Amino acid sequence: MLRRNDQLEEWDRAHFFHPSTHMAQHARGETPTRVVTGGEGVFIRDRDGNRLLDGFAGLYCVNVGYGRTEIAEAIAAQARELAYYHSYVGHGSEVSITLSRMIAERAPEGLNHTYFGLSGSDANETNIKLVWYYNNALGRPEKKKIISRWRGYHGSGVMTGSLTGLDLFHKAFDLPRAPILHTDAPYYFRREDRSQSEADFARQCAERLEALIVAEGPDTVAAFIGEPVLGTGGIVPPPAGYWEAIQAVLRKHDVLLIADEVVTGFGRLGSMFGSDHYGIDADIITIAKGLTSAYAPLSGSIVHDRVWEVLMQASDAMGPIGHGWTYSAHPVCAAAGVANLKLIDDLGLVGNAGKTGGYFNKVMREALSGHAHVGDVRGEGLLCAVEFVADRETTRFYDAAEKVGPRVAAALLERGVIARAMPQGDILGFAPPLCLSRAEADTIAGATGEAVKAVLG
Ligand code: PLP
Repeated sequence: MLRRNDQLEEWDRAHFFHPSTHMAQHARGETPTRVVTGGEGVFIRDRDGNRLLDGFAGLYCVNVGYGRTEIAEAIAAQARELAYYHSYVGHGSEVSITLSRMIAERAPEGLNHTYFGLSGSDANETNIKLVWYYNNALGRPEKKKIISRWRGYHGSGVMTGSLTGLDLFHKAFDLPRAPILHTDAPYYFRREDRSQSEADFARQCAERLEALIVAEGPDTVAAFIGEPVLGTGGIVPPPAGYWEAIQAVLRKHDVLLIADEVVTGFGRLGSMFGSDHYGIDADIITIAKGLTSAYAPLSGSIVHDRVWEVLMQASDAMGPIGHGWTYSAHPVCAAAGVANLKLIDDLGLVGNAGKTGGYFNKVMREALSGHAHVGDVRGEGLLCAVEFVADRETTRFYDAAEKVGPRVAAALLERGVIARAMPQGDILGFAPPLCLSRAEADTIAGATGEAVKAVLG
């Protein structure tokens, strides 16, 4: 058992450069060091003896829940047998080949070829390169621009951070970079024209996308990338008709569609993929998080047959594809993926995400939507967001300096539940493990109601 009087906290502040952390406050000791020591199901434990209900599954990734020995044992067995061999020039391991097959069996029709990476960011980096390579192979060297959405989240590398449409990930990093463009976020609650219907708003998003493609020149626009449900940008399910209208525009101008399913892949919405859920016919699907439930880092770009054929034929003229990571299809991570996908099936977690997700969203609405400063409670499957407003009548938002979202998240933590204060806007996000029970859903809703009252009255 670790104790508080050890040196960890001092070492942490002196040596550990944490991602997405206020560096000065952390170094000065103004923000807590939380050392997480274990977990079971939807709960984690920290070294101070707290047991917390993790309503965000880490970073919406521990989909099967904590403490699954089946995955731990698969990882250990693979590490003993063969911890590593590369996958360049046709090499592989039994688990990496098996996993690529399991993904093809689960992915929507035609999506049959997986390029493995380690993170959602590197998978989207791969996607950009594949799209460029594809258009070069087709003799269309001008067709290279990629359109993303404001508030989309696609990673934090140079190109993927550019795809991301959030201020925090751009400012002081000289991002976004060309040739990345952004179009409207499909965020009905934040529409400019309050009198607009959902259908009209969806149509407007598609019209503005088309106007952008036409203004840039369709011969210069290669791809559009979007999450089936906007995630880190606010957890926003698409307005009715959105994906249908967007896809019609993309098809008209011969623009590829990348569905970033890093959050929605493998069950979170109650369907195996968000693409199944919303009728999205993607050319490439990005996967990560739920692929291994984060028991080991692994991501993938699932390429549709129609793109694969072009890439494959090009290789006779262009030679082997010059794109590879040392750890692509790492056997230990692939073993985690195989065990994880089996567990998702065995435990019926996709079905549970749909059923318990529906229940969770219902009890969250019941607990919160009557509050004077709750403007919106929305979600799909096991995703849910509560958005706060200073004035409900006029949909006036709080000043960011008031930190309403972070304060409610802190009050909720005091009540034993972890939610995420989303980075842009006063939005409390929930994405619990897919094994959530109804009783645990009730616990989250009850504690959130109390936390909101404690902070906002
Ligand atoms: N794409 C989406 C939709 C994500 O939500 C994330 C991370 O949250 C990423 C990509 C980037 O994944 P990673 O943090 O593994 O690089």
